[in-house]
Amino acid sequence: MSQEKKCMGKKDTCKCKCKYLKKCKKKSLKDYIKVTLEVPQPQGVKNVPAHMYFYIHKSFTDKQQGRIKTAISALLSHWYHHFNEKWAGGTNSGTSKLALCTNPYATKKLKPVWSKSSVPNGIAATNLAMNQFTQLIRDNGFRKSPPATIDPRSSTTVHAPAAPTKRRIPLSLQINPKQLDSSAFTDLKITGSMLHTWLHRAGWTDPKTTSYFISECPMCVMRNLKPKNPDVLDSNSYKFFD
Ligand SMILES: [Zn+2]
Repeated sequence: MSQEKKCMGKKDTCKCKCKYLKKCKKKSLKDYIKVTLEVPQPQGVKNVPAHMYFYIHKSFTDKQQGRIKTAISALLSHWYHHFNEKWAGGTNSGTSKLALCTNPYATKKLKPVWSKSSVPNGIAATNLAMNQFTQLIRDNGFRKSPPATIDPRSSTTVHAPAAPTKRRIPLSLQINPKQLDSSAFTDLKITGSMLHTWLHRAGWTDPKTTSYFISECPMCVMRNLKPKNPDVLDSNSYKFFD
């Protein structure tokens, strides 16, 4: 039987799409530089890979690549501290500084798209997000998800679409290189803006404004986990989200 006949009525399967619709072709990675980052090992989390892998487009300058790597490592550090603080010497009943910072401000859209149960508050939302990051980190480090590519974009700052499911989601995103050259876009701001896109990859959706989890949690990172200063408008931070 010809391959075409075998695929009749099964057009949705990837194999058939590959053969006949040529849609599943693997993205060529020749235009990317492979970056290997060490994953810190938090207490109370098993099966964490030693490394994560990112493919940064060659068009980024060395300095821009360095800033991207710094931001990803800073994000991993927040994830690491979250679990260590939650572990609280073995009780696993602690609340992380990130969750405590986010809780008073994040009151809307606490739930990711894939969650069936309700999420009561910003602490629970932060716990859920960090758990889902563990999944994304494992899928990346153990090569279960497609390669995470970082591509340039000409508008806004950092962009990634919201993922509909929990498994095998690549941490691919786009960054505007012009922003990476701007001194107003500090390391804290890049880390927060990258956290916003990782939350999209973890299943949370916009709007990216005050009170929404996808905005408030990254804004905490941008404030170095400090409370809000009433003299600083939130829009100064969330203008770096997409
Ligand atoms: Zn967004």
